[in-house]
Amino acid sequence: MKFPSIGDIATKDLATVQITDTINKAIDVMLKHEHRNVIVVDNDKFFILTVLDVLDIESKTICLDEKLSKLNLKEVSTIDKKRNILDALEYLNNDIEYICVLNKDNSLYGIVTHTDITSNIDPDTLMDNYTLQDFLKLGKRMKWVSKNEITSILLTDMINNLFDNVVIVEDNKPIGILTTKDVMRLIKHREELSLPISAHMSSPVDTIINTSSIKDALVFVKEKHYKRVVVVNENGDIAGVISQKELISLTYAKWAILMKEYQAELSEINNLLENQNKEFEIKASTDLLTGLYNRHKFSELYLSSYKSMIQRHNDLSLLIMDIDHFKNVNDSFGHNTGDKVLVQVSHVLLKTLRNIDIVCRWGGEEFIVLLPTSSLETAYKLAEKLRINIESVELDVVGHITCSFGVSQVVEGDEMVSVINRADNALYLAKNSGRNCVKTENDLTD
Ligand code: GH3
Ligand code: MG
Ligand code: MG
Repeated sequence: MKFPSIGDIATKDLATVQITDTINKAIDVMLKHEHRNVIVVDNDKFFILTVLDVLDIESKTICLDEKLSKLNLKEVSTIDKKRNILDALEYLNNDIEYICVLNKDNSLYGIVTHTDITSNIDPDTLMDNYTLQDFLKLGKRMKWVSKNEITSILLTDMINNLFDNVVIVEDNKPIGILTTKDVMRLIKHREELSLPISAHMSSPVDTIINTSSIKDALVFVKEKHYKRVVVVNENGDIAGVISQKELISLTYAKWAILMKEYQAELSEINNLLENQNKEFEIKASTDLLTGLYNRHKFSELYLSSYKSMIQRHNDLSLLIMDIDHFKNVNDSFGHNTGDKVLVQVSHVLLKTLRNIDIVCRWGGEEFIVLLPTSSLETAYKLAEKLRINIESVELDVVGHITCSFGVSQVVEGDEMVSVINRADNALYLAKNSGRNCVKTENDLTD
């Protein structure tokens, strides 16, 4: 499985100031970048100043011309950008919201947030290693009220602030819950909304402890058919509310995108391999010089042609062709010219024969052709045609050459070797009959 590096997921669009700069300058930079925080650099150390810090500073009436070094800023942990995202898991259990991502020379490369890391980790890993309390740190919107809250006021608040649920708390313990579904019910049944919420809330509340893993929480909501979990700490005090949607989207959102990219990459590799395989297959099945099928491929094609002959009750014949006195060609004009003759002869073969015929260079200056749907008679005629075409073609340098042919017909139960043997014997007869002629296996028995 491919895991992104920290550098892959880091935000590089950073607002930075030096520790020697003033608070005012930091605010200006923040505004200019429209960021909610600014990184304060102090040589190889990094601090962060957030909007909340600025509000805090203002409330304490600290002068904005003060240097940032005067503030008690929170130092930010650092991590090498090449590190695997899984390495960042160790940071997650600490109370860390940002991590500075560094280049090899320790200069600042970017920043990653808690959420960036969690959403980029394999959901399975995340769900096992991550607890609900870690998730609650991510600042989910939630609302809880006391049981005396007037229902109508609470409903207005829920609608205005888009809370889809409210937990009713007494002494820090969740004692009831009101969801949008309950709200619908209240409105539909025209319930008395001036009553305190304790009159309408669903109670008691099923809770889950904050040390539970995300996986546990997802099983919990699934089994109970809940849309959310109310989380408590070990004392039973309310710790937060997380919806099923949040649990799933936080664990899966980015991962789904990554998996898609990974899939795309895989299918690209697959395509490349397939093309390469096709290339290898072509190389392994053809004769390099002429591009015709080689012996190996021919044996394979013989089998499929034989099967189709049996299935379709067709004829199938075979011819062997050997160039006459080819040794003389080599001796007189050289091996290279001999090669060119072989290529030109292969062109005549392909030109003369039909598309369905399977043409193979058997070796040296010998060719074998499988002739589907052809009786011995048809095969003889095709061989004659070939013989005449070869004889009449004017070859470069060499002029005219001739070939001898042996023809046989495949019968049921025929092994390839025996068919070839019979054709070979006919060829031998052709050679002995003065060459440049076609002989069939029938001529052998005569
Ligand atoms: P025949 O009419 O009896 O067939 O006589 P021939 O000379 O053709 O027969 P022989 O088998 O004695 O010689 C075949 C020659 O083909 C010998 C060999 O050097 C040549 N040969 C085999 N393969 C190649 C090749 O790939 N290129 C070239 N140029 N020559 C080849
Ligand atoms: Mg020969
Ligand atoms: Mg030969």
